[in-house]
Amino acid sequence: MIIESVTVDIVEVPLGSNYVAGGQAVTSNCHVLARIRTKSGIEGFGYIVKQRPQLIGAVAQATRELGAELIGVNVMDVEAAWRDLSTKAKWIGPGGLLHWAMAPLDIAMWDAAGKALNQPLYRMLGGFRDHVPTYASDQLWYSLSLDELGRSAQDHAANGYKGLKLRLGRDFTVAEQVERATVARDAAGPGVEIMVDGTESWDLPYARMVGRALQDAGVTWLEDPVHHDDLDGLASLTAALDIPVTGAENLYTLAEFRNTMEARALDIVILDLARVGGITPWRKIAGLVEAYKRPIAGHVIPEVHVHLLASVPHGHKVEYMPRSTEILENMPVPKNSVLSVPEGPGHGLRLNEAAVARFKTG
Ligand SMILES: [Mg+2]
Repeated sequence: MIIESVTVDIVEVPLGSNYVAGGQAVTSNCHVLARIRTKSGIEGFGYIVKQRPQLIGAVAQATRELGAELIGVNVMDVEAAWRDLSTKAKWIGPGGLLHWAMAPLDIAMWDAAGKALNQPLYRMLGGFRDHVPTYASDQLWYSLSLDELGRSAQDHAANGYKGLKLRLGRDFTVAEQVERATVARDAAGPGVEIMVDGTESWDLPYARMVGRALQDAGVTWLEDPVHHDDLDGLASLTAALDIPVTGAENLYTLAEFRNTMEARALDIVILDLARVGGITPWRKIAGLVEAYKRPIAGHVIPEVHVHLLASVPHGHKVEYMPRSTEILENMPVPKNSVLSVPEGPGHGLRLNEAAVARFKTG
């Protein structure tokens, strides 16, 4: 189970329909894809995906250099590998680019380890269940018109989703934000939860006003209302509102999560698998959050997050944001708003090699 080779590719898949996020047009999903092969022929892969090309080349180069350090390492020794890589590259960490560069390697090692043991990832990580409730968050951008938003909500509801999450931008009045939530709710019909994401774009007074108004309008989840550094602000919103205040997808380190939990800043904690640096640190953060009796949710990469959230008792919901369907042969799709883990050992995913070759840019 000794690693013999590591290869890293950039795979950029153009979107079918563009949108705006963070004030920037989004036109493609950019992957840094790492593949690990052992001397006995076992292969594992992992990737991060970002909806913008800036610095993807730098992350891929960092992943390549760190991957070279894994030659000769046993794929089972994930903890030792994570510590070794993060120590060697600690001058650019913790967090930031270092974690984005390490995550594809860490996921690939866990995948290969699962294949070596012939066990699926969710079971290697604890095996609490084999499925997780999910909600839709694709095609619900703040750049959509009300008509487009309504159609999108209707489509998601028709596909069986029991929850939808809208992005709410910065440049709307409180009444306009409520209108967007109401349009989505009415279009989706009864039995579909409406969740909203402020994407850290509001200040505290506005977040307080819009939070109350959205709560009164029946919204069931208020995500990232203010910047993740504003722990006092988040804690005050969490205390003031009845609906859960959620967030943390922008946190990198175990210590940042500890500070956030100690501040009682969030009701539901969202982990971004790439930003925390892969599966190895994800498990530790999940344990920390459990100690505070809070549920955890996953930010994007639902095809791997489903394993992670299924492996722990407090896994809440997977955000279904499929950004890698085109490069996979078997992207899992929810049924009745529930996502099941892919079949097979490791993460169970299979690359569509023809698509990877077609969209490879570096
Ligand atoms: Mg979010």
